[in-house]
Amino acid sequence: MLDKVVIANRGEIALRILRACHEMGIKTVAIYSEADSDQKHVLLADESVCIGPAASSESYLNIPAVISVAEVTDAVGIHPGYGFLSENADFAERVEQSGFVFIGPRSETIRLMGDKVSAIQAMQKAGIACVPGSNGALGDDTDEYLKIAHEIGYPVIIKAVGGGGGRGMRVVHSDAALKNAVSITRSEASTAFGNSDVYMEKFLEHPRHIEIQVLADEHGNAIHLGERDCSMQRRHQKVIEEAPAPGLSQKIRNTIGQRCVDACLSIGYRGAGTFEFLYENGEFYFIEMNTRVQVEHPVTEMITGVDIIREQLRIAAGEKLSYKQEDILVRGHAIECRLNAEDPKKLIPSPGWISHYHPPGGLGVRVDTHIYGGYKVPPYYDSMIGKLITHGDTRKQAIARMSMALSEIVIEGIKTNIPLHQMLIADSAFQTGGTDIHYLENKLGLK
Ligand code: ADP
Repeated sequence: MLDKVVIANRGEIALRILRACHEMGIKTVAIYSEADSDQKHVLLADESVCIGPAASSESYLNIPAVISVAEVTDAVGIHPGYGFLSENADFAERVEQSGFVFIGPRSETIRLMGDKVSAIQAMQKAGIACVPGSNGALGDDTDEYLKIAHEIGYPVIIKAVGGGGGRGMRVVHSDAALKNAVSITRSEASTAFGNSDVYMEKFLEHPRHIEIQVLADEHGNAIHLGERDCSMQRRHQKVIEEAPAPGLSQKIRNTIGQRCVDACLSIGYRGAGTFEFLYENGEFYFIEMNTRVQVEHPVTEMITGVDIIREQLRIAAGEKLSYKQEDILVRGHAIECRLNAEDPKKLIPSPGWISHYHPPGGLGVRVDTHIYGGYKVPPYYDSMIGKLITHGDTRKQAIARMSMALSEIVIEGIKTNIPLHQMLIADSAFQTGGTDIHYLENKLGLK
């Protein structure tokens, strides 16, 4: 097993990784920016190293600094968490070349799946359906992409090949708007992702976002842990996730799950990963693969009992998967609410000092957060401050527990999106289940 691991992240996921490591007897090294010295995992880690100023570009994204921490602390592996360097193929390659274990897939797999066009092409080759579209990056010839738009039919969505985090996408309804939309998305993509390539997909009007969690080892074994429904979104970002997806039959789950397992084997996948799909009229359309652990992994852990981070660490150490497909049994239902430091009305970040914090509790309630009373949420990073997860024998019970947990939790001093979650959990369409990806924005009047 790995002896010592550098946690190249911050916040709740850094704490989550630290807990998995310590449970397995793995020593931990926390890295942190000057703005993050009071993070819970920094205080709990065996060692901690400040790697630079608050700006992520000078700390959490500084590849030489992260690798030198592994060198000076004599660590064996580096866990990138999600966000930051987790899907940066150059980083994974530099880690490997420096003689450390990158806790994730091989760098060439990250490169293949990180480019959304090459990912779509690899999936088509593996027999997985994708959203009808340009099947490649758009060229400079306007007539050419007007033709593609006519073939697939409006509305279409222009997406950055190197995009992520719900950014770099634009919906287009007419010929008149297309040319401009392509050029704006190109320039945004170039600034945000360093790659101006864009592609086109049909914009699906009533899909659900359903994704499949997979695990694969280096010994040719791959399994799936079922699906998550992440349709409750705002600005293409997930707000509430749940597992299993309401109304999805075991037969459909097994079919799509097996297809993802086959795709893992066909691309030589290693580690934990997620195949994301849009699901409309009973069909799954692949949109992208995340080659890392996801924010919403706990809902899968709650219904399967599998510790996904532990499996990542075991796989990285060269061990075989602990489970076979037939060992994976789904028990009950789990829901996750992402807690953000944000103004629930204006929907803008609300960093600052947390004067009081009281977590909720009870059977089936899990809180993954790094905050505590007296913690100051810095303004420099993502506004997510934690995740509230509930599990129940039935979806109804998971919802009832979530409703109780949301009424028990107290976070004072900053504004949070707890009122938004309370409204959604009580919403009759959510309670019925199966709402599409546009439901929340329509409800909030953002469309
Ligand atoms: P990112 O990598 O930025 O997360 P994704 O490709 O995963 O981008 O898309 C994020 C979200 O954007 C999806 O969950 C969905 O809500 C929306 N989206 C993406 N592609 C389409 C599409 N073709 N039609 C409708 N919505 C889409």
